[in-house]
Amino acid sequence: MAGYFASPFPRRESVAVDVGGVVVGGTAPIVVQSMTNTDTADVDATVAQVAALHRAGSELVRITVDRDESAAAVPKIKERLDRLGINVPLIGDFHYIGHKLLADHPACAEALAKYRINPGNVGFREKKDRQFAAIVETAIRYGKPVRIGVNWGSLDQELLTRLMDENQNKGSPLTAVDVTREAIIQSALISAELAEEIGLGRDKIILSAKVSQVQDLVAVYAELAKRSNHALHLGLTEAGMGTKGIVASSAAMGILLQQGIGDTIRISLTPEPGGDRTREVQVAQELLQTMGFRQFVPIVAACPGCGRTTSTVFQELAETIQADIRKNMPVWREQYPGVEALKVAVMGCIVNGPGESKHADIGISLPGTGETPAAPVFIDGSKAVTLRGPAIAEEFQKLVADYIKERFGGAGRAAAE
Ligand code: SF4
Repeated sequence: MAGYFASPFPRRESVAVDVGGVVVGGTAPIVVQSMTNTDTADVDATVAQVAALHRAGSELVRITVDRDESAAAVPKIKERLDRLGINVPLIGDFHYIGHKLLADHPACAEALAKYRINPGNVGFREKKDRQFAAIVETAIRYGKPVRIGVNWGSLDQELLTRLMDENQNKGSPLTAVDVTREAIIQSALISAELAEEIGLGRDKIILSAKVSQVQDLVAVYAELAKRSNHALHLGLTEAGMGTKGIVASSAAMGILLQQGIGDTIRISLTPEPGGDRTREVQVAQELLQTMGFRQFVPIVAACPGCGRTTSTVFQELAETIQADIRKNMPVWREQYPGVEALKVAVMGCIVNGPGESKHADIGISLPGTGETPAAPVFIDGSKAVTLRGPAIAEEFQKLVADYIKERFGGAGRAAAE
């Protein structure tokens, strides 16, 4: 769906997993995924949110399957999405009774593109392995992959207790934090081994080991990546709201991605009440794009502003251009292949304005305080026109749209070929 350019960083080698037509791992681009927060039994609400997440750029969408009503709703959701032309793989998130729901609702098992199993709460004591095996066998029967998703908050307590006890008896015991990290890693690896023994191929298994602290996430995934070649799903769990969640997720995942670790990512942001769920998709895309792994939307470079700008004109213009691009991208992506690579600059004054604008495909340098009220526009590195007057924003917006049409439209593409 979106453009991709080869990463300048070596990716860790992993086994590719096909999730309903979207490849995770191997040499495939790092996949963006998200999760709904609707009641899955509410078909209308879930269809609307899956559609919004997919339109925002989510390439896989996970939905909660927690009871009979939600399992029964899954095939209806899939059917409605198909009718809307939204072909996004749906992942079922199962806890405690996944084995039963999948057995009782074969249409749900069929409609889902992947099952998420949490080894920490798939069942307790003697039921654990049996219920885990039942889900894996269902996955084999329907030809579906699974994600073995360990979570710090629901870690297998029997495994943790055993490792803590063994640690106590060591000459120089590890810290409790280190033992817990080890338990998280082992929980993922032991479960993957068990799934493979049951007969699920490695090309049907994705692993994740989510924790809520940045340093723990980096340590756990670095070790997990060393000990296996399974495709890895990265995510900081309970990342939090607003800037805190964005910063923590980006810091943790940025380090790992830079090391070539991670085949698919999800940013777990807590939305404000009534907030936009698609923000997590936008953040995930921006993380991958700013790091140079993928291209999703044209980049708008804007200076931060300083004492040389006494008005908010350039901030407003940068915001307008960015919003305009996001709004038009679903259509532009189809009409103008390659438009994701466009670079736009909106700068506040003459100090860095012309220089930065020349480096962009199209850029504008607005007048700072005391400067002549003129805004030179640079196209492909050369000054093309100078805008003046009250309609600078609208005129620049039109120039950007014309540039896109010219360069990425049929005639522009033909000239470039
Ligand atoms: S380009 Fe001008 S307005 Fe923008 S930060 Fe630099 S000096 Fe300040």
